[in-house]
Amino acid sequence: MRPRAVLACALPLLLLLGGCGDGTPADGRAAGPSPVASAPLPPEPTPSVGPRPTPPALVRPLPARLPAGLRRKTGVRTVALTFDDGPHPTWTPQILDRLRAAKVTATFCVLGTKARRHPDLIRRIVREGHQLCNHSWRHDLDLARRPVAEIRRDLDRTNEAIREAVPGAKVPFYRQPGGRWTREVVTVARQLGMRSLHWEVDPRDWSKPTAATITKRVRAAARPGSVVLLHDGGGDRAATLAASPHLIADLKRRYGVAPPR
Ligand SMILES: [Zn+2]
Repeated sequence: MRPRAVLACALPLLLLLGGCGDGTPADGRAAGPSPVASAPLPPEPTPSVGPRPTPPALVRPLPARLPAGLRRKTGVRTVALTFDDGPHPTWTPQILDRLRAAKVTATFCVLGTKARRHPDLIRRIVREGHQLCNHSWRHDLDLARRPVAEIRRDLDRTNEAIREAVPGAKVPFYRQPGGRWTREVVTVARQLGMRSLHWEVDPRDWSKPTAATITKRVRAAARPGSVVLLHDGGGDRAATLAASPHLIADLKRRYGVAPPR
């Protein structure tokens, strides 16, 4: 395992007693300075002798490790809601219902494998005016570090699965699983006509907080133009779903909600 992969797994391991590969979404695990200031950090060891230990790499500022060309803001006042790792037959329809009730549209960052399995949900996402984002074929966290030809095949294959469901569907964005971007993946996405969509607000809904906590975290961190990361796939999304009516209404009232353009 490469050092970065070890580091990326270390914090969730400590926080959740879980681990990478447990099936929960990995987005947000790239850590960095989350806008969620309340997230706990592992205690720093305090040896009685010797030099003070270097702080863990995970607390280093995220922008320093991100390549250029990532979108984290909409560029206008409206905030963007993004839902990752679906479509999922249980959660995606209910999220779509909440969005419809609130009369807002969002961005769905879908996996190729899930799009192939649930083409009806891809069709509903498009029919109801939402935006699609390519989130790779099977959520390979290391995809961005693989050979360029392999990256291109993965992203191409995912767009093909989407367009099998909806011929000619627009896929204006790509989002790297786990936020583990490289210059190479940003370049390949651009060559395939996709801009790279990161996020500004991560309430860490993958770590199973309560609905009230998700709402509180988003409310505290959202700013004009924020791109907000949520999940409609990758695990039990009951809390995200329960949070969504209040969360959407609050963001809509303060900033307006619309996909990035
Ligand atoms: Zn994801």
